Amino acid sequence: MALRNIRKNGDAVLRGKAAPVNRFDHRLGILLDDMIETMHAAEGAGLAAPQIGISRRIIVFRVDDRVMELINPEFLDKQGETLDLEGCLSCPGIYGEVARPRLVRVKGFDRQGRLLEVEGEDFVARVLEHEIDHLDGVLFVDKALRLLTPEEIQQLRRKD
Ligand code: ZN
Repeated sequence: MALRNIRKNGDAVLRGKAAPVNRFDHRLGILLDDMIETMHAAEGAGLAAPQIGISRRIIVFRVDDRVMELINPEFLDKQGETLDLEGCLSCPGIYGEVARPRLVRVKGFDRQGRLLEVEGEDFVARVLEHEIDHLDGVLFVDKALRLLTPEEIQQLRRKD
């Protein structure tokens, strides 16, 4: 396994529409393992392949202590709306308020090509939509209703 370099806002790969995965082979498994390791090292809640420079429809994310992976994810349903603070490994030091669905259902595939269905509420729904947005070249700063000021970020840091 290897840590990959996380691309930052301004890098063109973050703005492209990622292509579907059509080969569920050994290389895909290596890529997923690297994405998971990179997500953990960066202490992120999720990571999308374009964030490490790979324009493919692959995301990994955490649900409590479990790591999940979804390949070619597609929304089956979105319900409700919640507003909360959000950040992104590709936009370091920036936080904003983003409206996301309260509940999502997503289908996709695991690394063996088996069909999966995932339901996420609240924080998990937020992470899922955030990561799937990355596959369409959308960053949270595009959707944020408001970005936090440097003073507000300082206050958040003091609370930690
Ligand atoms: Zn992100």
